[in-house]
Amino acid sequence: MQKNQKPLGIYVHVPFCVHKCAYCDFYSVTDMELMREYTSAVVAHIRSKKKFLKNALVETIYFGGGTPSLLPVAQLERILNAIYSTAAVAPNAEITLEANPGTLTSKNLSAYKKMGINRLSIGLQSADDEELSALSRIHTRAEFENSFMLARMEGFDNINVDLIYALPKQTKAKLFSNIDYVISMNPEHISLYGLTIEPETPFGKNKEILSAIPDEDEQYEMYMSACKRLEECGYFQYEISNFAKKDCGCKHNLKYWMNKEYISFGPAAASFVENTEYTYARDIELYLSNLKNEKAIRQPDEETGETEHVLDEEELETRFVMLHFRLRAGINTGEYQQKFGLSFEKIYEDKLEKYMKDKFIVRTEHGFRLTRRGMLISNTILSDILEF
Ligand code: SF4
Repeated sequence: MQKNQKPLGIYVHVPFCVHKCAYCDFYSVTDMELMREYTSAVVAHIRSKKKFLKNALVETIYFGGGTPSLLPVAQLERILNAIYSTAAVAPNAEITLEANPGTLTSKNLSAYKKMGINRLSIGLQSADDEELSALSRIHTRAEFENSFMLARMEGFDNINVDLIYALPKQTKAKLFSNIDYVISMNPEHISLYGLTIEPETPFGKNKEILSAIPDEDEQYEMYMSACKRLEECGYFQYEISNFAKKDCGCKHNLKYWMNKEYISFGPAAASFVENTEYTYARDIELYLSNLKNEKAIRQPDEETGETEHVLDEEELETRFVMLHFRLRAGINTGEYQQKFGLSFEKIYEDKLEKYMKDKFIVRTEHGFRLTRRGMLISNTILSDILEF
């Protein structure tokens, strides 16, 4: 890395899906006609950030969605080319594409490989066809298996598989059969998220669904034993919901959790650069029609109307603690001291004592981390520690 270059991650939100899954609150549209215009807009947007990007060394690029694998190969390539021609990209950069099973073919996989994509994140969610249908996913387990095998044949050796637990009517046995199936496929990385009910989704409005979701005790049991099983099978839990084989943690997501800088493109995408947070509005039409006016395409804060937020020292400290506690490595008190000139241990003495006594937090060689029990209720612990 050259002296004046700073490390950066780039996220591109590809907001297209075949249809809207019943539980999903991510921003996406089903109008594929907009794809070409969207690509041109993202390309122009990337180029418009030339002044900022020319001082960066891009270490990770992440195409998330939506369903990025729906975007025609030529359009994906245009976006990637725009990044390469605007910024310096590290030769060993991690370049991830999120994909839905059923949208992957030998042809597009081979093209992805050629253009430099070296990591796939496949959204399986469940290995049970009944559960998949209840989630209104567009694929079956057999289609996932076919996609996964094709990816291996095309030489992808860094693949993540997403799973969701605590699905309506899901038993621990069913979850374990999903997990064991994924382990049998031998991906390098597995993400395991609890189902989050978003009030505005069909799931959130369906009383029958809501009453069929495993209760808190069942969810606790599911999470604890799933994490244990994954670790027994060689998947190290390096974050609350993420498990990886040795050296296969997602470098891009680690940038988020380690409080590093990332810049994003596309509607609904969020950035954190130069201690400033901002998010583009969940509105593709606005993104396409107002691209030249950076402020107009951003989501204004509901209270202040501001389109970006520069974090002060206190907010930076809160952000640091919140994000680092998501990681198994936890808080490095030396790094904390260096960044904020304060003693983490002294500031949070009482709270640390309380949570250590109940085994929600433990000491590490370099500081403190949440235990697995602590990770499961991390939101409660963090809002208590950070008083918000
Ligand atoms: S494919 Fe993914 S992003 Fe699209 S609607 Fe389904 S869950 Fe949401």
